[in-house]
Amino acid sequence: MSQAAKTPRASSADAAILQVLRPELRHLTSKQIHTAVRKQLPAISLVTVYRSLERLARAGQVSISDMGTGAVVYARVTESLHHHLICQDCGGIVTIEHAEVGRWFAALSRRHGFKVTTNHLVLFGLCAGCQATHR
Ligand SMILES: [Zn+2]
Ligand SMILES: [Zn+2]
Repeated sequence: MSQAAKTPRASSADAAILQVLRPELRHLTSKQIHTAVRKQLPAISLVTVYRSLERLARAGQVSISDMGTGAVVYARVTESLHHHLICQDCGGIVTIEHAEVGRWFAALSRRHGFKVTTNHLVLFGLCAGCQATHR
């Protein structure tokens, strides 16, 4: 297993996946990533894509999130982190800048000595429009 991680094939899979995830705010499932990567590496298996995604996530280069769509999605972690508010009723997604969340993370660090490493926070709730229709 550790040997497999060092083969050129593994690193070319990592590179191909990062290329697929290059556009900012692109969030893809493992199957979507597999389909896209196969254009470059036709013989690559879904299992190899999974292993590569897990390796990239451990290295902090890719985030893994449940955005309520039934399958986890992967996104590239960039210098400018972002997070999301997702309406569980209409599925609307608001993207928020890290600054809004970073203040809270800093407060947690001061109060609890806890360093947050979550790099893609997803909060579920109801958007303003859906709250109005529920009233
Ligand atoms: Zn995102
Ligand atoms: Zn809504």
